[in-house]
Amino acid sequence: MQLYKNQTLSVHNSLSGKKEVFEPINEGHVGMYVCGPTVYSNVHLGNCRTFMSFDMIFRYFRHLGYKVRYVRNITDAGHLEDDADDGEDKIAKKAKLEQIEPMEVVQRYTVDFHNTLQKFNLLPPSIEPTATGHIIEQIEIIKEIIDKGYAYEVNGSVYFDVLKFNETHDYGKLSGRKLEDMIANTRELTAQDEKRNPQDFALWKKAEPQHIMRWPSPWGDGFPGWHLECTAMSTKYLGDHFDIHGGGMDLKFPHHECEIAQAEASSGQTPVKYWLHANMLTLNGKKMSKSTGNNIYPSEIISGENDILSKAYTPAVVRFFMMQAHYTSILDLSDEALQASEKGYHRLMDAMDCLETLGTGNNSDFDVKTWKQQCYDAMNDDFNTPILIANLFEAVKHINLTKEGKEQITEGDKALLQSTMHSFVYDVLGIEGKKNGNDNSNLLDGVMDLLIGLRNEARANKDFATSDKIRDELTALGIQLKDGKDGTTFSTN
Ligand SMILES: [Zn+2]
Repeated sequence: MQLYKNQTLSVHNSLSGKKEVFEPINEGHVGMYVCGPTVYSNVHLGNCRTFMSFDMIFRYFRHLGYKVRYVRNITDAGHLEDDADDGEDKIAKKAKLEQIEPMEVVQRYTVDFHNTLQKFNLLPPSIEPTATGHIIEQIEIIKEIIDKGYAYEVNGSVYFDVLKFNETHDYGKLSGRKLEDMIANTRELTAQDEKRNPQDFALWKKAEPQHIMRWPSPWGDGFPGWHLECTAMSTKYLGDHFDIHGGGMDLKFPHHECEIAQAEASSGQTPVKYWLHANMLTLNGKKMSKSTGNNIYPSEIISGENDILSKAYTPAVVRFFMMQAHYTSILDLSDEALQASEKGYHRLMDAMDCLETLGTGNNSDFDVKTWKQQCYDAMNDDFNTPILIANLFEAVKHINLTKEGKEQITEGDKALLQSTMHSFVYDVLGIEGKKNGNDNSNLLDGVMDLLIGLRNEARANKDFATSDKIRDELTALGIQLKDGKDGTTFSTN
């Protein structure tokens, strides 16, 4: 039987502002959409945190036995500099600056994005669609919105009519804003403005002659507005009404608010049942920003090459650090905080290693069954990873007391403890162990043990051709073998 039948999961829904019991639209299935990156620069550590939070959520749904379709897009067109309808396209601007094709920009930073996420052990989504791959779908949605009377064309651009929409719908329901307040707080339109009202947003923008990224449409050559791609891709792969839409808190307005408006105006259905928003990462108590220099890249944490760090940290330690905060809380990154996480990570991993060989007794001093349910209770309470980790350390305490002979555990309880620890640490939190992680020194030790073993076997069989070949090819790679009376050791250049 699937685990979800015995567990009641609650999630914080930004739409109601409350925790709600999660009930999927289709039994046993979860459809989840998360706004992906705009690939015009190296992925930001704050964005990594957001994607890591949704990776943990994806993993927990899978662990509970749901069939999950997780869609996370790549924005490779249409995202303008000011996040609204003005300025240059972020990707086209970068292409011009570096004198390369926009698609070269997209390729370079998509590869960086995937490599970085893989280092932090994120699972790939089920579908990763791109905005440029869904231009036809976006044009179709615009046509529907125009047909329903919620959009208008001006000089080859199409705008969403927010005031008209708000007469029959609630624009602002996700972000808790009132349209009257928005109107009161915005500047008047000037004569050059094409929009009927400042709140209106672009569904399609006419491409000026110098604009490289352009597609034909019923309104002339142009490109889609940024908000539209997510409506097109989420509903195409998950249906007009789907379970979960996630993203960073900063996307709530206007991006997600506009997504709701577009979907409701075109299909007539409210698109999302549960809106989940992940909070930001700060650095030394301040907002991260490239312009003030209070900034750190994922690669710099792993290499230690940033002045705010005293050393390098493995991706597994960084992931453990991120999981120690609730995904809806602001998390502050500092060298001290990472050092503390590193200590915690090693304590946890040492206990997991110790558990493998722990002796068993006739009774248990630790109520493993109750503890296991407490782990689920933590995750069922809106994915409360800090409470889960506190529970894991409760188990660490008992593992260490048992090792010291101060407590006992039965064979059955030990097996249950082992499988539960494995599930939560490796599968749900996605934290890699020291051996299978990105710690290359451990990996090299493992590979060398294997090669030395094979060479010894070859020598024992008098197959000197093979044993010499292993030694010579390792020498060519810069690894020297040394045969001593205690066996063979190795050194690298
Ligand atoms: Zn989006």
